[in-house]
Amino acid sequence: MSIFICPVCSEKLTISGKSYVCMKNHVFDIAKSGYVNLLNAKHGKIHGDNKFMIQARHNFLEKGYYLPLCRRVCEVTKKYAQKNCVLFDAGCGEGYYTSSVKAFLEQSGIAVEMYGIDISKDAVEMASKRKSGVNFAVASVFNIPVQSESSDILLTMFAPYCRDEYLRVLKNSGYMVMVIPSENHLWELKKAVYDKPYKNSVKPYELDGFRHISTEKVHFDMKIDNSADVQSLFSMTPYYYKTGKSEQERLNALENLETQADFEILVYQKIQ
Ligand SMILES: [Zn+2]
Repeated sequence: MSIFICPVCSEKLTISGKSYVCMKNHVFDIAKSGYVNLLNAKHGKIHGDNKFMIQARHNFLEKGYYLPLCRRVCEVTKKYAQKNCVLFDAGCGEGYYTSSVKAFLEQSGIAVEMYGIDISKDAVEMASKRKSGVNFAVASVFNIPVQSESSDILLTMFAPYCRDEYLRVLKNSGYMVMVIPSENHLWELKKAVYDKPYKNSVKPYELDGFRHISTEKVHFDMKIDNSADVQSLFSMTPYYYKTGKSEQERLNALENLETQADFEILVYQKIQ
């Protein structure tokens, strides 16, 4: 049984052959790599990250630059995961963390059912090709095609925060594991590119509808020795969209970079 629901009528979806089908006979074909596109066309054309950016991010992550973060996310999630529980990754990107968490839990003897969605079809396609046994769908975190109160743990890493939907899909007393960049994240990269770099602002931890359980800082230094990886890293950031010509030139000229990676892993529990 899948927790996915029909994006048209919200009825449960079941797998029938190579498709997901609801009781009103809305059919969603499963792509060759294994994901399903449940993005509701009614919500208009929505742009996710494009193929170039997804590939850059994939290359960067696969080189292990963010491995210390990935390990901590696995460990933190394990604290709250029980055998056969349902995990949902909201904004899973190209599936690096999603697949790692699932594999880590399995290696720890905790078999889980795992789902991941992202608005970018290219990202979901790549995530799906990891063949990690995660159920991936193309969908928006603002209109999540999964059943209410279906997930024990919701992961959200660098994704937009959508309170109503996250509360809806979580079971009562379910956990949310959220990863955000902290204030010194990529400070040296910003200093190299911008005239007036500024630090990330860290917001208050309290979130409506959730009890804040813990905050863990993950801080490490990265040494990047080639321009391609520096550019990949930059393309993963929100600054990528706000960079002018002269800044782009400075970025292109960076042959190597030593910079801090600075994250926070926040854990919340749904309260009702
Ligand atoms: Zn339907």
